[in-house]
Amino acid sequence: MAQAFASPGKYIQGYNELARIGKHAASFGSSALVLCSRARLHDLQDIIADSFKNAGIQAVFEPFGGECTKQEVERLRSLVKNHQSDLIVGLGGGKAIDTAKAVAYHEKTPVVIVPTVASCDAPTSSVVIFYNEDGAFQEALLTRRNPNLVLVDTRIIANAPVRLLVAGMGDALATYFEARTCVQAHRRNLAGGTFTLASYALAELCYRTLLSDGLPAVLAVQSKVVTKALDNVIEANTLLSGIGFESNGVATAHAIYDGFTVIPGARRMYHGEWVAFGTVVQLVLENRPRQELDEVLGFCRSVGLPTTLKDLGMENIGRDQLLQVAQAATAPKESIHNEPFPVTPDDVVAAILVADALGREYRGTVDKD
Ligand SMILES: [Zn+2]
Repeated sequence: MAQAFASPGKYIQGYNELARIGKHAASFGSSALVLCSRARLHDLQDIIADSFKNAGIQAVFEPFGGECTKQEVERLRSLVKNHQSDLIVGLGGGKAIDTAKAVAYHEKTPVVIVPTVASCDAPTSSVVIFYNEDGAFQEALLTRRNPNLVLVDTRIIANAPVRLLVAGMGDALATYFEARTCVQAHRRNLAGGTFTLASYALAELCYRTLLSDGLPAVLAVQSKVVTKALDNVIEANTLLSGIGFESNGVATAHAIYDGFTVIPGARRMYHGEWVAFGTVVQLVLENRPRQELDEVLGFCRSVGLPTTLKDLGMENIGRDQLLQVAQAATAPKESIHNEPFPVTPDDVVAAILVADALGREYRGTVDKD
């Protein structure tokens, strides 16, 4: 199997960088459809409109419907046709970003992605996750084309709720551990081949960056300021995690998230919060050393990521529901099968219960100190 590495065409990260979006996007098109999450449209529209005007780019602004569904993609495709847009710009969190990527893929236009939160690693990748209207995971679309430009304005991220940055660290936490599993088992990545030295090095750097800069970055966002530690964590959550998962592969941690989306109450938690817990589940399933589990649990505790079912609002989940989660997590197409051994629903239930117990035990030990 060939090696394959996927990345966005260009990645730009800076303070107040959104004000220069026109200059950065001018080479990709002259008539943009700007898809923006409803919450951010009001305060960001003028900044973008001014910058586009100076760069000679026409812009139509459209609020995002709220869920990345096939219906929403079709609705936006007809707008692209009506306005004869030759460029898609997607602003917002993971779902708005994925929707913009899907529209650009179908309409064969370039796409510029502006994450307004660092809550997941969707911005850089070619992967689109579709959900049902009610928010349950439906399927992943591998577009095989990455965004032409990812533009991150650190001022915007620093002013977003801290829980979203922390959720992004949860998503980024899984990157190295899932990469290691896929690399050691010679699994296919999401870029259509096997890992490269570059992709694996970025996954390792992603984890090291979280350990060293995670807590200082949380403190920066709590004060709504940008520090070097926050710069580093934004890069880890967005660029390192994005390339790291796409160009190495995913395994159990993400399958656990997919599994829990079948429980309606689980959707109150963010993707990255589930993936952080899923990382511990994966380490239990792989029977990794206690020292490694303690390092991961310690990190989660330091930044405020959930480590128990209670933290995830699932303290009352019954065995039947857990089995439902495990069955969804072990569906034939799930990434859990990238593990180098067969995984059954019973194995998953066991690993979830032990991960939860370890989280509770770790908390008890730390709180006593
Ligand atoms: Zn993820």
